[in-house]
Amino acid sequence: MKTSIITGGAGFLGSHLADRLLGEGHRVIAIDNLITGNPRNIEHLSGEAHFDFVEQDVTEEIRIPGSVDHVYHMASPASPIDYLQIPIQTLKVGALGTHNALGLAKLKGAVMLLASTSEVYGDPLVHPQTEDYWGNVNPVGPRGCYDEAKRFAEAIAMAYHRHHGVQTRIVRIFNTYGPRMRLDDGRVVPAFIGQALEGRDLTVFGDGSQTRSFCYVADLIDGIFRLSQSDEVMPVNIGNPDEMTILQFAEQILKRMPCESEIVHKPLPEDDPKVRRPDISRARDLLDWQPEVSFDEGITQTIEFFREDREK
Ligand code: UDP
Repeated sequence: MKTSIITGGAGFLGSHLADRLLGEGHRVIAIDNLITGNPRNIEHLSGEAHFDFVEQDVTEEIRIPGSVDHVYHMASPASPIDYLQIPIQTLKVGALGTHNALGLAKLKGAVMLLASTSEVYGDPLVHPQTEDYWGNVNPVGPRGCYDEAKRFAEAIAMAYHRHHGVQTRIVRIFNTYGPRMRLDDGRVVPAFIGQALEGRDLTVFGDGSQTRSFCYVADLIDGIFRLSQSDEVMPVNIGNPDEMTILQFAEQILKRMPCESEIVHKPLPEDDPKVRRPDISRARDLLDWQPEVSFDEGITQTIEFFREDREK
């Protein structure tokens, strides 16, 4: 039986990855300090024989007895609101946490998969974003703590690969949505759904012409799993190339959630990327992966989740 460690295992993506790996017959050890993760995301796994949870900050040394086959380093605050509130932890988990995850993988001879991000491209000057684009990041802006931590994480992963021969994998995750996002994490999907559920106005930042491309969580997790089982060392974008403006996204939410809410405009946050869409040619070629869940299907599931969650 394979053993997989998931840092950030009680988070949005980490918990979905735990479900997938358990389904693949792996033993899973989830590590999380619960700073942005939530025990409710893994509550359903508490009776699972092959699942363990360790409450720990991964910026401290990670000690796991026995053999380990894969280390998935998913731990990090990932919403602009979170990393503005906890910028030091964001930098530390990207830097020290990645160092520790690599150290564990080196010790155990495990494959280490790093959850990187489309934020490494910053406010991109190349569109759609290909993996060979080096990005346009402001290191001293409000997003710098996240973007630069992830860029450092990629650099140290490559150094461990080249210098120590650790089998590293780097996934650049584009905007992902689905059940188990935090309603108050500030990201646009839970923000608009939460506002519509409560009959509040939808807060579109700026004129709403900035674009994002939203990937449903099940597709994202499938891409991550495939990458972890492959031999590909260089970064791979995983995301859905179906691009829309934030204003269009707000209109889509209002269409599906009839309510009194209207669209209001708020100031655009500093350094908010104007466009974002993954070029997924590498994922298609190397992993035979592409998103399967339509926006309509995914957003319906997500709205349903938040509706039920609110009633609990
Ligand atoms: N956004 C918005 N209203 C909100 C929250 C976000 O218009 O209440 C915009 C934000 O300015 C950005 C996009 O939605 O252009 C996506 O923001 P999110 O925080 O989800 O993540 P990002 O892709 O910026 O990391």
